[in-house]
Amino acid sequence: MTSVIIAGAGVIGLMTAIELQRAGARVTVIDRQQAGRESSWAGGGILSPLYPWRYPDAVSRLARLSQRMYPPLIDTLRSLSDVDPEFLPSGMLVLGDYDDEQPEAWARRFDVAMEAVDAGAIRELAPELAPVLDRGWWFPEVHQARNPRLLALLLAAARSLGVRLIEHSPVDSIAVEQGRALGVYSAGQLHRAEHSIIAAGAWSARLLDPLDCRTRIEPVRGQMLLLKSEPGRVRHITLSEERYIIPRRDGRVLVGSTTEHVGFDSSTLEDTREQLLDYAQRNIPVLAQARLERHWSGLRPGTPVGIPAIGPHPRVEGLWVNAGHYRNGLVMAPASARLMTDLLLKRTACLPPDDYAPCDAVHKKN
Ligand SMILES: Cc1cc2nc3c(=O)[nH]c(=O)nc-3n(C[C@H](O)[C@H](O)[C@H](O)COP(=O)(O)OP(=O)(O)OC[C@H]3O[C@@H](n4cnc5c(N)ncnc54)[C@H](O)[C@@H]3O)c2cc1C
Repeated sequence: MTSVIIAGAGVIGLMTAIELQRAGARVTVIDRQQAGRESSWAGGGILSPLYPWRYPDAVSRLARLSQRMYPPLIDTLRSLSDVDPEFLPSGMLVLGDYDDEQPEAWARRFDVAMEAVDAGAIRELAPELAPVLDRGWWFPEVHQARNPRLLALLLAAARSLGVRLIEHSPVDSIAVEQGRALGVYSAGQLHRAEHSIIAAGAWSARLLDPLDCRTRIEPVRGQMLLLKSEPGRVRHITLSEERYIIPRRDGRVLVGSTTEHVGFDSSTLEDTREQLLDYAQRNIPVLAQARLERHWSGLRPGTPVGIPAIGPHPRVEGLWVNAGHYRNGLVMAPASARLMTDLLLKRTACLPPDDYAPCDAVHKKN
């Protein structure tokens, strides 16, 4: 039985663990703290890239395959645990004055349901919206997941499949001998495995840089607000002015986010809180009555054009990377886990792997 050790228990590490364990591998996941408490917890849970036509094809391919994989995956996970991840077809409105050709050509090429909307159509879909913008695009099939709950489901499912989880134990380095990874050092102990995968989100470069693998994965802070409103007041995910509003089933509403290059600083700022509140209330006036419950930030694993690194280290046998999902880790996780598993188990790859080759090609645009 192939043994695998994964450094990092975010959505990427956990989904990879589940995919590999279901394919017959024996998987251990190690996290330096409680599992699932970083970017994957902090995120919005929109299961689509924002302004999806702006991304390279390598991102669209991962996102589209994941969107197809999500419904059966959620069914499988829920057969292993009764945690409800609130996987819901919220639909997404992207408002603003965009060039028509690019979104339309993109939607045709990737077979995405998308309609142009005018003021009347927007009002019908989302009467709660102030008439700030009078044109945009409607993506009726976009889903969301309540990401802290999705993580709880992934953890429960991984455990029930027999994945071993070690928490509060930082991976300090990869053990390499004669060009081969032997496992990872954590808390002074060598954890041996035939294969080691780095899925440490924004912290991945710290483990990869000493191994001559420059991925250019850097933390990009995103701040988020949680408001308490009434169920049904806000109907759909709405995107405009580079910001978004996400309604949860219980009436809570998320407002996000920022993209700040401030290193590993995960503090929150009063100014940003006011800007996000102003954005939410200008666009959905009824949110002026909503109570602000929480303000947090998360560190995304940023890469220059958003393409993650998925695959083998080119020079260290048995060492793999699945990291750098930037703004789209929740949507791209299932296909990323599948591609990683295909490559590691030498199965036919579900997507062309060269686009994601770690250490060299993450900077590449396509
Ligand atoms: C505000 C915000 C909003 C977002 N919204 C969305 C969205 O709507 N849709 C979407 O698709 N994506 C969204 N994202 C992006 C998404 O959250 C990330 O791309 C995704 O969570 C990355 O997952 P990950 O598992 O790679 O990283 P993480 O979730 O950060 O997990 C990395 C794990 O590695 C662990 N770790 C780090 N170093 C070590 C070490 N040395 N040893 C052991 N463990 C280690 C950490 O403790 C952590 O648990 C958002 C992100 C933010 C911050």
